[in-house]
Amino acid sequence: MIAPLHLAGEPGSQPRPFDRPRAERAVRELLAALGEDPDREGLLETPARVARAYQELVAGLHDDAARHLGRVFSQRSEDLVTLSDIEFTSLCEHHLLPVTGRAHIAYLPANGQVVGLSKLARTVDVFARRPQMQERLTAEIADAIVEHLDARGALVVVEGEHSCLALRGAAKRGATMRTVAARGWFERDAELRAETLALLLGRGR
Ligand SMILES: [Zn+2]
Repeated sequence: MIAPLHLAGEPGSQPRPFDRPRAERAVRELLAALGEDPDREGLLETPARVARAYQELVAGLHDDAARHLGRVFSQRSEDLVTLSDIEFTSLCEHHLLPVTGRAHIAYLPANGQVVGLSKLARTVDVFARRPQMQERLTAEIADAIVEHLDARGALVVVEGEHSCLALRGAAKRGATMRTVAARGWFERDAELRAETLALLLGRGR
């Protein structure tokens, strides 16, 4: 079995618990560094609010895909399962700015093992809700499905709008980054992959 890749810090280490007082101190320090007065009235509650917001945005660090994908149930069919347009919010690990978008998942069950659709959606959040790169997010979702469901294949497409591209630097709003991870049969069978991609991304809904 492959060691979980989604834990923070050193390989195999557990992420430290979220330290809210420390996050609040850091936000206060950032405000001061920006040239603001953290003691002016409008900013007094800001460190606490920002810390709570970041706690939500990194909640996936303290969750585990196995917890969701481990709850398989048996079904006689081993036909393709897809779930499109799973909304997510993530955090670009280079700028700590939000990435918002949609994930689309297809998998081919093996041994009749399937999961509830909500578990697929939860799995997206486990990997999205942390400092992340979109390429890694896509790969981690696909790998988790193959690992925990023993699936014959997984195909994951992630479409993300990156605030760091929209708001700063090149300042291009409305650009969508698309990443694809194909595992198992989807990696080997180009026709299956193309058909399934068309199904996942079928527009006009
Ligand atoms: Zn960025």
